[in-house]
Amino acid sequence: MDKNYDVIIAGAGPVGCVMAERFASVMNWKVLLIDKRDHVAGNCFDKQHDSGLLIHRYGPHYFRSNNKDLIDYLSQFTDWIPGNYYVKSSTNGELYPFPINLLTLRQFFKKPDLNAETAQQLLEEKRIPIENPANSEEFVLSRVGREMYEAFYLGYTLKQWAIHPKDLAPSVCGRIPVRLNEDERYVDHKYQLTPALGFTEMFKKMIDHPNIDLQLETDFNQIRHTVKPTKATIYTGPIDEYFDYKFGKLPWRSLEFEFKEESKEFSQPCVQINYPNDHDYTRTVEIKHVTGQKHRHTVISYEYPRAEGDPYYPIPMEENHHLYERYRTLAEQETKENDVFFCGRLAEYKYYNTDEVMELALKTFNTIKGKHGN
Ligand code: FAD
Ligand code: UDP
Repeated sequence: MDKNYDVIIAGAGPVGCVMAERFASVMNWKVLLIDKRDHVAGNCFDKQHDSGLLIHRYGPHYFRSNNKDLIDYLSQFTDWIPGNYYVKSSTNGELYPFPINLLTLRQFFKKPDLNAETAQQLLEEKRIPIENPANSEEFVLSRVGREMYEAFYLGYTLKQWAIHPKDLAPSVCGRIPVRLNEDERYVDHKYQLTPALGFTEMFKKMIDHPNIDLQLETDFNQIRHTVKPTKATIYTGPIDEYFDYKFGKLPWRSLEFEFKEESKEFSQPCVQINYPNDHDYTRTVEIKHVTGQKHRHTVISYEYPRAEGDPYYPIPMEENHHLYERYRTLAEQETKENDVFFCGRLAEYKYYNTDEVMELALKTFNTIKGKHGN
């Protein structure tokens, strides 16, 4: 291995790829980008299933952003198709549009004539007044009341996290909007787009640069003491692992995915169906609705939450936040003394979306660029 690198980047996910591209093309730095997996794109990785259909290997990724500059930046590496992000919730034996919107309220309360105003009044009656919700349960109760909390949120959250919504930060269930109009899209963002050829192709194009050496199936621990970069190290893996679990392990939530091919064109009416109260899985995903592929067959993925496995979700609870803060103090020292920068969902123990980590990567890049007099 060539050992004269300006920067080493551990993790070829969204953060690692954006950083590698920036260092290589803006700074003309020599980059070593490694990942312990056998592919790039991190958890956004998509690949061809045996059937020829593109699947999202680590759960559905619905790219969204409010940031035009970010979309312009990414458009150098991909064309886009519109994000067709529609979800339904299967509860009380019926399929409801989710997140809760006017159509959900009409169906749930059997009031087909509800409009924005009468729905607002209805919600006022249902809501439990809680001024400053301190957890996810209080957050949902204060927004939609107990009946809908129990129908749509309680069971799903218990299954997903194995933690009661009372013990999770308000921001967990707060990710989901509630609307008094007929907008059924899953998220609110201005730009809802999918890379036309998939995420993996977009990231491959991003890092296709003569200054970037990519080395897969390489753990940071294998090289951290032997390959020393001249300028900086970017670490995007779990922060507790970097410090050898010195203060104990940070809890992560994992998932197991089961992919099943079906010999019909479509199996469900939209990309995702959530199952708050039935089955061991939380949701079924038919990503074909998003990728727009034409095929006689379809593939459904079933998501089973797990305590063990790859770290997918930091668990937003008070005590975990405190433990993370202890690691963050060490990380700050490491940045100051050794130019190691911690960035991303695993490295910052934060429930970030893809657009958010890419913005952080660009920001961190600018900080480092500034340090080097550019
Ligand atoms: P990651 O994507 O996790 O990449 C980190 C990489 O580092 C991995 O490839 C890992 O193998 C590698 N690595 C870790 N440790 C080491 C080591 N020691 N040595 C070498 N390599 C290492 N975001 C959205 O915007 N929309 C969505 O719909 C969405 N859905 C999601 C669904 C699921 C089930 C999950 C889990 C996440 C979802 N996300 C979604 C979030 C998105 O996946 C993350 O925001 C994004 O992938 C974070 O990028 P990252 O580079 O920080 O980390
Ligand atoms: N959630 C819920 N019911 C649903 C969907 C989501 O209670 O039908 C809660 C659950 O706690 C979940 C959180 O809202 O973990 C965030 O949901 P999102 O769909 O954003 O989760 P992700 O796609 O990140 O897994």
